[in-house]
Amino acid sequence: MLPKLELVRLKTHHVLHEPGDTLKSAYFCNTGLVSILSVFPDGRSVEVGLVGKEGFVGLPLVAGLRTAATRAIAQIEGSVFRVGGETLVEIFPQCPKLERQLQQFSQIMAMQVTQIAACNRLHELNERLARWLLMSADRVGSNSLPLTHELLAQMLGTRRSSVTVAVGALQKAGLVTHSRGEIEIIDRRKLEKAACECYGIMLRQVEEWHREAR
Ligand SMILES: [Zn+2]
Repeated sequence: MLPKLELVRLKTHHVLHEPGDTLKSAYFCNTGLVSILSVFPDGRSVEVGLVGKEGFVGLPLVAGLRTAATRAIAQIEGSVFRVGGETLVEIFPQCPKLERQLQQFSQIMAMQVTQIAACNRLHELNERLARWLLMSADRVGSNSLPLTHELLAQMLGTRRSSVTVAVGALQKAGLVTHSRGEIEIIDRRKLEKAACECYGIMLRQVEEWHREAR
């Protein structure tokens, strides 16, 4: 697979694909954070998935499909291995294990999207913010997250002022610190307690599926 891959740096806000785009490439993420957004005709968008070093962008290709249904955008800069869509599909017969693992990742993303949809509807902003910070930290592999309140508001589908209040509450409780454009998790255990149950539900499901896959 490796000779077919091209190492690409992604800057923050780099768009990998828009809804309706033909997927010319797929991406194995190394570092950074990619957001999967549902986009509405009036321009509004809300995040329905997160991909970091564990993941892959371009899942319709794995199912033999060609068109993107979502926007994928880099939220934290990083690097990815890019592969041509056709090249990826052609290589599957020689690499059945890769194809299988990508199918399994597709299920993980579907589960995550389902859980986040329910979470956006049912859970309070403070809990969702804690859940989002934990998910991002896991995917980036760092407790230090270069994120503005503006971006967090966009991700959580709320107003910037509400995010500022929510981040302030987490900071006051000693769970995070924040400075301009950066949030740092300082007490992960307490942040897990502050998050809604969605974080734990998703984590346990992924662990269970990893066990089953072995
Ligand atoms: Zn939730």
